[in-house]
Amino acid sequence: MQPIVKYSQVTKSFGDLEVIKGIDLEMAPGEKLALIGPSGSGKTTLGRMLMTLEEPTSGTIELDGEGLWHMPRKGAFVRADERHLHRMRGKVGMVFQHFNLFPHMTVLRNVTEAPRKVLGLSREEAAERAVSMLGKVGLQDKLDVYPAQLSGGQKQRVAIARALVMRPMVMVFDEVTSALDPELVGEVLEVIREIAEEGSMAMMLITHEMDFAKDVADRVIFGAEGRIVEQGPPEAIFENPQSERLQSFLKRFR
Ligand code: ADP
Repeated sequence: MQPIVKYSQVTKSFGDLEVIKGIDLEMAPGEKLALIGPSGSGKTTLGRMLMTLEEPTSGTIELDGEGLWHMPRKGAFVRADERHLHRMRGKVGMVFQHFNLFPHMTVLRNVTEAPRKVLGLSREEAAERAVSMLGKVGLQDKLDVYPAQLSGGQKQRVAIARALVMRPMVMVFDEVTSALDPELVGEVLEVIREIAEEGSMAMMLITHEMDFAKDVADRVIFGAEGRIVEQGPPEAIFENPQSERLQSFLKRFR
């Protein structure tokens, strides 16, 4: 089966600092992949490159069988133009640690904005999709309120609905519970778990919630300092870690 996502020999530097050091990584369609590892190991950068928010320094990323940052032109591959990136970006959704909602828009408008502007849906079509998605994350009674009136957990659920309403093939969840009060973490993880169970969408879960990764992921990747150190099914990674690095990393969560 063709992978939905394929990183090949990807590196990324910020100035002199190389933060991704030659990653090869494939995701199968529908696969739920958890990325764990110490802060600063490059997990967010990996996700941001897939979302086209950062450009790799070298290597290639393919999404749904096409180059993300390269496109074919007259028999060769050239750097993707804005039109290509825009089209590819439509296949990926991302939810961030800090919700990034539009503060001056109601919940409903936050979710309908992209379907209207990017997909060109009518107001009615966009609202129909958005209401259904907001129902799925348990916010059907908050359509007309503004983000400031919501709890952190509710804001994050709006952000999830806003990404899902675009029907991406791959979703990147980047530490979506790290900025939340502890009592609000559960409701957000539960929503993600339900979405994961529905199935067909591939998910990259960047997380420090080890129990969550264990439950939801098909495969776990442990990275450190811009490299993949160890990967495998959750049972192997959490119950039988091989490398000394992963063993000492996991001790912090016991
Ligand atoms: P993680 O998600 O694993 O915590 P990140 O991908 O956020 O790691 O960061 C990896 C490294 O890249 C860190 O050292 C971070 O400071 C650095 N970094 C990330 N983004 C930038 C940027 N825009 N400019 C400079 N350095 C950055």
